[in-house]
Order: sequence, then structure tokens, then C-alpha cells
Amino acid sequence: MELIRKLEILADAAKYDASCASSGAARKDSRGSTGVGSTGGVGICHSYTPDGRCVSLLKLLLTNNCIYDCHYCINRRSSNVRRARFTPEEVVRITLDFYKRNYIEGLFLSSGIIRSADHTMEMVIDVARKLREEHQFRGYIHLKTIPEASPALIELAGRYADRISINIELPSETSIARLAPEKNLARTQDAMAHIKTKIEERFAEKRYPENPVKPPPFATGQSTQMIVGADDSTDAHILQRADTLYTGYKLRRVYYSGFSPIPEPSSLLPIKPPPLVREHRLYQADWLLRFYGFQVGEIADDQSPNLDLALDPKLSWALRHRERFPVDVNRASREELLRIPGLGVRNVERILAARRFTRLRLADLVLLRLSMKKILPFIIAADHTPTLLGLDSDSLRQRFLPPPKQLELDFENPAPTKADVQSSISGEL
Ligand code: SF4
Repeated sequence: MELIRKLEILADAAKYDASCASSGAARKDSRGSTGVGSTGGVGICHSYTPDGRCVSLLKLLLTNNCIYDCHYCINRRSSNVRRARFTPEEVVRITLDFYKRNYIEGLFLSSGIIRSADHTMEMVIDVARKLREEHQFRGYIHLKTIPEASPALIELAGRYADRISINIELPSETSIARLAPEKNLARTQDAMAHIKTKIEERFAEKRYPENPVKPPPFATGQSTQMIVGADDSTDAHILQRADTLYTGYKLRRVYYSGFSPIPEPSSLLPIKPPPLVREHRLYQADWLLRFYGFQVGEIADDQSPNLDLALDPKLSWALRHRERFPVDVNRASREELLRIPGLGVRNVERILAARRFTRLRLADLVLLRLSMKKILPFIIAADHTPTLLGLDSDSLRQRFLPPPKQLELDFENPAPTKADVQSSISGEL
């Protein structure tokens, strides 16, 4: 098969994997050496395909052949799709060619499982090894690893990659047994624990450079992806799993990928994909867990197991906990300020810095470019108390709801696209 045909098939097959962010890679470049490329410490830029997937990395599968039969996956054994397979040399050649033409800034390489997990990992590692050792490639490399592969191979992958990831796929053991019968949550978590240990060893070495025993280099972080909407897991369940992964395995990111219907779908899958906004709300809730001091139980619990799709999760929490408001922006702690809807981490820092010199008034907050409509009902400022806006009024929620509209007829205000969802991966809440 011609290389271009393989590229068409295997780049398309890789688009379902959302976990390809590149932030946090160690800084390195080829100045003063014979190598090629560089990796900025703060990550590289992303662009998005029309369906919102990241493409600034060359995102490929080594092959879309697979001996596993995960029901939600287009590349599963029983799927009737065109198959292709790169040799490691072909991936190396394409990566270098694209890199030198400035099309890409790095490589994201995943693969279906061929012959065995170890055999596949060896092929994936071979690509990274050739790039790093034979071509001195210093661009970003993200390798998707296979939990069933031997720990020694996962370790080797981490030596060449900036980021490695293992997809957890589904939040519960039961869903995995039902939809991905050859996979096993415990094995995936063991592999993540192993990677976490290796990453910690690497950072310990940096912290104690005088230590005579130097561990080999290793990736700076790991991430994972969870598919949303392929099973009946609630948002509370998904966020609980994500929280366990962040705290237990020190993951850099958990990506939430709305289940996309695939051709010839399995009868075990839902007919319709989840609304795109659910993915968006999960990213927002994830942000609250990591940067705003929220616990999962505050965002979603047994009583309200799914996120409010109409409102962002922080606003939704604030409306359910009106007794915590209003908050005085001139006196509140950082933790209290972070709970105010519409106030992001950056703006909280600005408020804390500004109020050292003056008692803040509404005009000062306007100068900080805050979302005044959103924050006014929840704050006290030197010249403002929110009684007029009716914090206790039942109509407060109504004020924040988007106006009702007929989606099918509204061409000027379309529903969010995948790109909108991806851009929500970061932002002020
Ligand atoms: S192992 Fe990966 S590529 Fe293979 S069927 Fe499962 S999800 Fe798809």
C-alpha cells in the first residue's frame, strides 16, 4: 500500500484518542548539536480538526489491526474497516519530513495490538528509539502504552517519550468487562502505578542531584482518557474515578472523550452519542477538582449524579449553596473567593493583590474584566451588596439559563462543536 494511503487510514483511525496534550514536557533543543527539533517546557501549540481533535502533533496509529475486540472501538477485531500498518521506519520518515516542513511539532503514536502486547510495544518503542538515537530528534513524543505489556517495556517507552499514557477507557470494572472484555482495570492501574514510580524517581533525581545513583531518564508525566456515554456511568462515577487517578497515580490529565458512534456499531452500545455539552461540563468539573479545591461529592453525588447541562458546575453548586454567599471580596480567603461563580484562579490572585492597597469597589472589579453579570449576585464589594439582585429569589437560576431556542432552526447560534469543547479544557469558571 502506498504510504499516503496508509497515512490517510492510520491518521484517521487515531482521531478518536483525545489524550494528546503536550504541556509539561521537559525543555530541550538541538542548538549546538547535530540533532533536529526542540520541545518547549510549556508545551506546544495545538490546532483542531473540524471535529475538535488535536492535530498539531502528528497523531498516528502504527496499525489499526487489533487482536482485541473492544465494542466502542472502530479498530476492534470484528470491525469491518480498511486496515493498514506502518513499519517503524515509515513513521520515522514521515515524522522527520513533516517536522522539517513545520507541519507538526511532535509525534503522538498509538497502536492497535498486533500479535501480543509486548510485540506491539516493541514496535512503538522502536519508532521512538530510532527518532531519538539515530536521528537525534528532540521534538515532543507522546507514546500510548499498553497496560498488558511487560513493565520493562513500559519503562523503556518512558525513557524515549516526553509523555506516556494508558487509556483507562471506562470508569468501572463492570463496564470494562462488558465492553472491553480483554482489558482489565486492575492491570491498567498497576501499569499506571509503575509509571508513577518511575516519574517520581526522575523528579527525586532532579531534587537531589548529588545522589550518586542516577535513574535513567523518564517521561515527565502520564495521562489517560475516559470514554463518556458508551456505558451508563454517571458523571459522579466518572469524576470519582478521575479523582482517584489524580490522587493515586498523579496523572497530569484525564481526558473525557464523548463516545462517537462508529460504523457497524455493537448492539451493546447506545444508539445516540451523549450531548457534546456533557464532555464540556466534565472538563469544567475536572478543573474545579484540580484547581478550585472542590471535592467530587460537592459537584455530583448520589442525589444529583449527573452534572447540570444548562449551567457550569461552579454556578450550579453556588445556586445549591446560597447560604455560602454573598462573599466579601475585600475580606474573604482565597478558598472562598475561588468558589464565586465567574471568578477564575487568575482573577482571584488579582483581587488578592489589588485589595492590599484599596477597598475594592465594583468599578475596580470591572477594570479586572470580570464577568460582572455572573458574579454580582454572589459578592459584596465596598459599594455593593447583592440584595437588589435577589440572591434568595427562585428566579436567580433562571437569570443564568441560556434563552430557550429551537435548535433545529437556529443556524446563527449552533450547538457547541468539538472545537468549543476542546477549548474549554482550560479557562476561568
Ligand atoms: S485494544 Fe485499543 S485498538 Fe484494540 S480494540 Fe481495544 S481500544 Fe481498539
